[in-house]
Amino acid sequence: MLKPTCKTDALEGRVKFRAALVRWFEKHGRDYPWRRTREPYAILVSEVMLQQTQIATVLGRGFYTRFLETFPTIQALAEAEDERLLKAWEGLGYYRRVRMLRATAQALIAEHGGIFPTELDRLLKLPGIGRYTAGALRAFASDLPAVVVDGNVARVLARVMDFSAPIDDTSGQKQIWDWAEGLADPANPRIYHSALMELGQKICRPGVPDCLGCPVASFCKTREPENLPVKRQKTTITAIDEHALWLLDPGGRLLLHREQAKRREGLWKLPTRQAAEISSLPVLDEHPYTITRYRVTLRVHDGASLRDSLSPATGESWHEPEDVLALAMPAPFRRVIERLLR
Ligand code: SF4
Repeated sequence: MLKPTCKTDALEGRVKFRAALVRWFEKHGRDYPWRRTREPYAILVSEVMLQQTQIATVLGRGFYTRFLETFPTIQALAEAEDERLLKAWEGLGYYRRVRMLRATAQALIAEHGGIFPTELDRLLKLPGIGRYTAGALRAFASDLPAVVVDGNVARVLARVMDFSAPIDDTSGQKQIWDWAEGLADPANPRIYHSALMELGQKICRPGVPDCLGCPVASFCKTREPENLPVKRQKTTITAIDEHALWLLDPGGRLLLHREQAKRREGLWKLPTRQAAEISSLPVLDEHPYTITRYRVTLRVHDGASLRDSLSPATGESWHEPEDVLALAMPAPFRRVIERLLR
């Protein structure tokens, strides 16, 4: 591919590297709500939401704004009850994140009077705050020197430094964080880190990057950016089926199950059964979705023939149809329930 030649090592030319990046960002940087605030709570919410969820989803479907309207302060989040908390996160998946966010808020209230500390070591002692989030809070909320490495930044640095070893083992991660520290701008952390992340999202994107439009191309050593970064672990996607029951009692109430397992704890869904138990029943609806490394086909079976023989299992209960949609549910189950209720 056509790519400008590297003229200067980024670390040796760090002052110019930072300046080129910031100049580009000031002209092309996107205007996100979390870039308009210095409020650490709002920044923390954005950082946690953007772990494992795309910016387009978080903004386009209004999750960020809605969450902050529902829980406008740390105090409100710390006091949130399960049902309301999960409902506010519904559709974002990975619900462990929001429980952890509440735990962070509770620790902030209990240990810091609701005020975010700014020191790295004190931030790192809070539940749910790792070195990425701590760095992001320091840089974006307090404009303090920080090291901030997310997936976008790791990709940019692997390419700029032409790093052909895996970035996802211990030594690869250490190397990337060392370079990130060496390049970070202590005088202008907020803009510098926003710029580097944006470069990874917009220009130095996965696959084939836009090297001709890149503001730091003259510092970038790789000749084959499309082959970088290297990852040790390749995720293998496994296809599985999930079998759920659609069962109404004689009064028209729907049988639901409240999940106890960790991943979806507290969420409501249709009761599921082993394939051998119900796969021969007629299929009313199917919905494909992906979760972690699984491509799941959710099949909803008509349980009418079981109505007299089936007694609800632990965690299962009957619900009036008009109350069902107010409950917090995993998005795939909400979709099929909405369709079938219609
Ligand atoms: S887009 Fe990425 S790979 Fe291309 S020149 Fe810029 S930093 Fe290097």
